[in-house]
Amino acid sequence: MDLRSFFEYIGAGAGGAGKHDAISGTVRAMREQAQQTLKALELLEALRTSWNQPDPGKGTPYVFFVRDYTGDWLHGTEMRVTWCDAFFARGFVSDLDRAQEGVRSFPWEGFKKPTAVPLGDFREAKQEPCYVCRKLAYVVGKYWQSCDSPDGDTWSLELLLLCPDCLHVERIGRRSEGYRFGHLLKRPGR
Ligand SMILES: [Zn+2]
Repeated sequence: MDLRSFFEYIGAGAGGAGKHDAISGTVRAMREQAQQTLKALELLEALRTSWNQPDPGKGTPYVFFVRDYTGDWLHGTEMRVTWCDAFFARGFVSDLDRAQEGVRSFPWEGFKKPTAVPLGDFREAKQEPCYVCRKLAYVVGKYWQSCDSPDGDTWSLELLLLCPDCLHVERIGRRSEGYRFGHLLKRPGR
């Protein structure tokens, strides 16, 4: 419903408790939908700009597509990610020329030499059925320093299923460690 129609509906007539309960319900639903849209748009923007982070995940979540991943359920009911094959989709990357130069080095690989940003084709992005509408949704990784404390840092990875149809975002796996584990953001042996 557009807001003008909603205002006109609310303003018409005297109202009453039943009508106002319905209005409150509609406002709640519209707010939830707006929050879902915001969350999806934040991920979309991060997919365009994360390639340029000097220290991936420090201060700002590092968000990428994945070609594939593996995990286990040894430690609970939620999948613990063992690795994911992360990449940035060329069409999404906000400055492809610079990204292709691989201007960033990855701290977890030391300072030996700059490492090329892992770029890939959008068509390589892994898709799985959305938990809500069952249409194909994108698997998106989010890696960030979730706790920055003198008593010890925590680094976290979440795999999210982002549905471009209904905008539902479902967490399908995670991992947390007391150290940087960016080396797990690629397929073993590469
Ligand atoms: Zn969906």
